[in-house]
Amino acid sequence: MSAESIIQAAYEQVVKRNTGEPEFLQAVREVLESIEPVIAKRRDYVEANILIRICEPERQIMFRVPWRDDKGNVQVNRGFRFEFNSALGPYKGGLRFHPTVNASILKFLGFEQIFKNALTTLQMGGGKGGSDFDPKGKSDNEVMSFCQSFMTELQRHIGADTDVPAGDIGVGGREIGFMYGQYKRLRNEFTGVLTGKALNWGGSLIRPEATGYGCVYFADEMLKAKGESFEGKVCTVSGSGNVAQYTIEKLNQLGAKAVTLSDSNGSIYDPAGIDAEKLAFVLELKNIRRGRIKEYADKFGCEYMEGKRPWGVKCDCAFPSATQNEIDEEDAKTLLKNGCTLVSEGANMPSTPEAAEAFVANKIMYGPAKAANAGGVATSGLEMSQNAMRLAWSREEVDEKLHNIMIAIHNQCAEAAEEYGQLGNLVMGANIAGFVKVADSMLDQGVV
Ligand code: NDP
Repeated sequence: MSAESIIQAAYEQVVKRNTGEPEFLQAVREVLESIEPVIAKRRDYVEANILIRICEPERQIMFRVPWRDDKGNVQVNRGFRFEFNSALGPYKGGLRFHPTVNASILKFLGFEQIFKNALTTLQMGGGKGGSDFDPKGKSDNEVMSFCQSFMTELQRHIGADTDVPAGDIGVGGREIGFMYGQYKRLRNEFTGVLTGKALNWGGSLIRPEATGYGCVYFADEMLKAKGESFEGKVCTVSGSGNVAQYTIEKLNQLGAKAVTLSDSNGSIYDPAGIDAEKLAFVLELKNIRRGRIKEYADKFGCEYMEGKRPWGVKCDCAFPSATQNEIDEEDAKTLLKNGCTLVSEGANMPSTPEAAEAFVANKIMYGPAKAANAGGVATSGLEMSQNAMRLAWSREEVDEKLHNIMIAIHNQCAEAAEEYGQLGNLVMGANIAGFVKVADSMLDQGVV
């Protein structure tokens, strides 16, 4: 059987088993298609049925999360944890709290996480979890009540050597704190069971900055490979949460100019650039007052585009940092037409398959999420190391380690792409380099 038919048959089997899960199937398809040249060479993977095994989570947990709101009413949400693959280490991946959360979205994220974590060079397996709970508009008391109930069930499945969740959309320092408090109370142990903790109780310096910084470091490596730099580059950024905020901070440090931000209501366009002072306003608006991005336009007198994404704005580089499938084919064509030559994905799977194809076909510098946004989980790995040693590294030490990891990820992707005759195609490079490492480890560990 040809490699192409083997891949097709495996994909059909995954489709059959996971009907009604479009995001998961989208993520699986991209990885399977990329690794065709590997399958052509490595029949041992086929004999050990690695393709089907890697697409099946080792464990899936789904549970009821009852909690009481401020009016005394009992609310019910659904909680999930997908423990996808532990070939390289304890399951590791974030928790997402958002009303759109379902099994398909968490499975796509957990699947991507396996290969992303493999690229970090650290010892971490892949997992993801979350809930359809919406923290927006809830009081601190309601968020705590929910987090405590969520952790009351989750705690029996996780542990510092088993499964170490972190934050994601809707889960920041506040939520990690409430969940950590409840874990400690139920288990009577102070261990590194969650990452993204506050500094006083086991968090790592640079963890909040890590995904955004890492995404810009990765982009910087793509630019350097072409003899270019960020100096004077105009950048569009979507989202206005954790990843977007620190992407802009690092872009400013490297001499670029970020001109957009967005949230689920719309985008702002500030041609003068979002400088440090304006960014401080965004951090206060989003992390403390939890307001809408429109207030930025009101405060600084720039354009607000209601219900629009920022991809129509002319730019040299784009940093999607909000959510999945936020750049469709039309958006990609607009970006390319307007002269965008670099896309570095801070969000997970922000480009639809058609958009990703357009970037690859046009041979622009394109950093796929599982490589470009791996700085967050890598620094979570560094937080785990510090917790295990009961020591804390300085800001400079962690930042240097993060920077070196992003350089290593870029090099692995570039080398794998070159080895398989796809010079410069970092999508293929990331999928191949991540897959081979996990598949080899699964072979070593037998049929488990
Ligand atoms: P936050 O919750 O801090 O911010 C998310 C931002 O994206 C908000 O501005 C939010 O707007 C916007 N957003 C969310 N959903 C949608 C939607 N459906 N349509 C339009 N805008 C939306 O999350 P993060 O910054 O942590 O995460 C952003 C992305 O980065 C996600 O894809 C996440 O998986 C990925 N990521 C995060 C990592 C991390 O370390 N935090 C690590 C690796 C990847 P609103 O407030 O209106 O909802």
